[in-house]
Amino acid sequence: MTHMPERVVVIGASVASAMLIERSRELGFAGEFIVIDSDPNAPYDRPPLSKQFLLGTGSVEPAEWWPEATPILNAKAIGLLTDKRTVLLDRLGEVAADAVVIATGAGSIRLPNEPAGVLSLRTAQDALSLRNAVDAGATSAIIVGAGTIGAELASTLAQRGLAVTVVDLAPQPMQRFFSGHLGEEAKAWMHQAGVVTHFGVAVESIQKTDPHWAVRISGLDLHADLVISAVGARPNTEWLTYSELDVSNGVRCTADGKSLLTTGEIADGIFAIGDVSARQAEDGTFRRFESWTQAQRHGAALAEYFAGFESAELEQAPYGWTEQFGRKVQVHGMLPSAGELVQVYAAEERNAALYRIGSTEEDVAWIGVNAPRQFSRASMGMSLLS
Ligand SMILES: Cc1cc2nc3c(=O)[nH]c(=O)nc-3n(C[C@H](O)[C@H](O)[C@H](O)COP(=O)(O)OP(=O)(O)OC[C@H]3O[C@@H](n4cnc5c(N)ncnc54)[C@H](O)[C@@H]3O)c2cc1C
Repeated sequence: MTHMPERVVVIGASVASAMLIERSRELGFAGEFIVIDSDPNAPYDRPPLSKQFLLGTGSVEPAEWWPEATPILNAKAIGLLTDKRTVLLDRLGEVAADAVVIATGAGSIRLPNEPAGVLSLRTAQDALSLRNAVDAGATSAIIVGAGTIGAELASTLAQRGLAVTVVDLAPQPMQRFFSGHLGEEAKAWMHQAGVVTHFGVAVESIQKTDPHWAVRISGLDLHADLVISAVGARPNTEWLTYSELDVSNGVRCTADGKSLLTTGEIADGIFAIGDVSARQAEDGTFRRFESWTQAQRHGAALAEYFAGFESAELEQAPYGWTEQFGRKVQVHGMLPSAGELVQVYAAEERNAALYRIGSTEEDVAWIGVNAPRQFSRASMGMSLLS
């Protein structure tokens, strides 16, 4: 049975919605998509912003993957009349549809009492401000937060010749991405690149002491030309505050993206995909991923649901990647925080390694470092040997 709506309004023009639209068209969707985004630059690729874009000189390019002939209305969604499937906009009035797809992603969390002038990175405009500050001659940076984006920034800024210091309350870099594993290895990558690290410490204050910044940790002032906050992202759901959707940490939805009301019932015709969505897992908990690949899978799976298919997209194990300190790091599966990683492959001359945790098909997870071939064979359940 198809669930094909005739008119779909999509809030957020990025990778999740691009895949929804493209896959819907492949499956013969003949209706109308109305796409709304508040960022005048959208759509563009976010992963290069902390990597190639910050290293290079080009501008933020429009995304090649955005489906042709799909215009984007530049407006901000400010409310949702859930039972009427109507989105309220800051300009251009309101839009009603048979289906509303929430694809508003996530935005940078800012530190409490953060002074103006502290940089962060989520949008093209943020990336441009950061690159301009570096181009203007900054020689040092303090990065608060060593998640994947903080670690990537440390890598790129060190490559650009800045003296980089990283501060994090967590005991190790990428604590969440690695579920507490590979802490010493990831610290060593930073130290080999000359990055100074302070883990397990809280930032006590940040002050501009012209021309430098002072960041206080454990009673000690660290000084730098730039301070960048990279303490994580929170789902863009403020506009849904009065919608009666459950937005406890992202838009809570069923495993296949049907949004839930605060009563726990399904909100008819309202869906959520990508970083903004918190999907219900088999154990009943809600999980949110900030991953390019997961966002694409959500978009494709929703298109398949509209077309009446049993989608296989969401059955795949989660996948995430990061690039930093000359390493491509890939993770397949849900990494448990308990248990030991087993190194099953290493090639030291290329800084390459493959690690496994778990032993059964259901619970196995893999981490690959500069080992894309071995990683992809292992994650497909194939032998590493041939
Ligand atoms: C610097 C950086 C590097 C990254 N690197 C990697 C990586 O190496 N690997 C990886 O897997 N992932 C990476 N990611 C994460 C990846 O980019 C995201 O998972 C992905 O972009 C999520 O896509 P999405 O479609 O859910 O939402 P987003 O890409 O967040 O897009 C959401 C869109 O919604 C719009 N929007 C928000 N609120 C409103 C509103 N109220 N009204 C109208 N429009 C609105 C926004 O303007 C935005 O364009 C990175 C992210 C960043 C910021």
